[in-house]
Formats: sequence, C-alpha cells, structure tokens
Amino acid sequence: MVNVCCSDMSNHLYLISRNNGNNNSEKHDKVIYYSSRFNEYGIPLDDGISYILIEYCPWCGQKLPNSLREKWFAELEKLGYETPLFDDNIPEKYMSSLCWKKDD
Ligand SMILES: [Zn+2]
Repeated sequence: MVNVCCSDMSNHLYLISRNNGNNNSEKHDKVIYYSSRFNEYGIPLDDGISYILIEYCPWCGQKLPNSLREKWFAELEKLGYETPLFDDNIPEKYMSSLCWKKDD
C-alpha cells in the first residue's frame, strides 16, 4: 500500500482514509498512522483521528518523507476552498495521495 522504510513500520502502520474513525477493529493494534494526502506519519491520539507528527521511524531511525500538509492547503485555497479540512465538497482526489499524482 505504501512504500515504507522497514517491515516494522509496515506492520504497525494504519492508513488513514476518508472514512477513518469508523473502523476501530482494523486499527486497534496499529501504533502509527499514515495520512497519504499529507504524506505524514504520526502517533495516534485518543480521539482516533488526530496524531502527533513524527519525522523519523521509531524502529529503524530513517528520516520520513517531508509533510505535504502546507502544499495541500495551498493547492485547495487556490481552488477556492477556504477551510478545506472541514469542507466535504473538496475534490475526491484530495482525500488521498491521488492529489500528488501528476496527470500525464
Ligand atoms: Zn523504519
């Protein structure tokens, strides 16, 4: 699903998707969240939705990819969405890493 630095990371990773927060059975044993639209890794908080951003893999120590959060907000603001995080009408591709794929 995601290219990760090591097998420990891939075993403990929970991929956040559009309907995150609903499927607790799948993520109860996952200790790291991955947000594909922001390209961020994080330690989940109790609410099951937000997380504390981490910059290095806790197991192998590799530097994780740079966050694309600011770019995400900038692109959506350019499209006219002032509060994209809370806007259900943003284009579907911005809910995942699809928004970073270049159209050929
Ligand atoms: Zn690792």
